[in-house]
Amino acid sequence: MMRQGPVIDGDMVYHGPDDGGRVFLTFDDGPDPRFTPLILEILAQASAYATFFVVGEDAVRFPSLVRRIADEGHEVGNHTWSHCHPWAISSAVARKEVCYASAALADVLGRSPRYFRPPHGRLRRCMMDQARELEQTVVMWSLSAVDWGPWGRATRIARRLRAVQEGDIVLLHDGRRRYNRPWETVRVLAGFLSDLDNRHLRPSLLEKTGRCKGRIAGDTACAHNKSG
Ligand SMILES: [Zn+2]
Repeated sequence: MMRQGPVIDGDMVYHGPDDGGRVFLTFDDGPDPRFTPLILEILAQASAYATFFVVGEDAVRFPSLVRRIADEGHEVGNHTWSHCHPWAISSAVARKEVCYASAALADVLGRSPRYFRPPHGRLRRCMMDQARELEQTVVMWSLSAVDWGPWGRATRIARRLRAVQEGDIVLLHDGRRRYNRPWETVRVLAGFLSDLDNRHLRPSLLEKTGRCKGRIAGDTACAHNKSG
């Protein structure tokens, strides 16, 4: 299933406002010196803005690329330190994954990230709590390009992207990690942006929704609570 959920549930954002003619592109798992610059160039040519959920350890390896993302007007979000599967680590490590990446981005950019997205889209309460304590809004997505794995071919990605609607938060990848196929994303991105332009849909930055007080949607309590 490609689409999911309500606009905002608790302190998690799945979908942007469906007025104002905007869509919200997100690129995960960078920065990647092979693909991030190509994507930045395509976005710049279309005057499109996006949110990049970067991996902390790669942000530290390629700080100038992270600064370039921000300098070109895009948002940089927290995608944990090392992209471990949230369910495969202790709660203490899960919290550190959020904190270390946050600190790394603050160091590189001079300000803390405002958004957090868990790796693999897997929710874990301790990570959500940690993100909230750092005043980072958890951002999921409502439309996935599925630009990875055996279905991550350009023609299929393009077809999925054509289904975009006003307010969608779109999941894409600029980082080569595991099964991602960012080169396929690069092939279809300009056409997608041109299609959005024809439909008067403007790729925009997420808006900070403020501190959240609601419960966590789809709550999955820490599976490793006792392991430290
Ligand atoms: Zn990821």
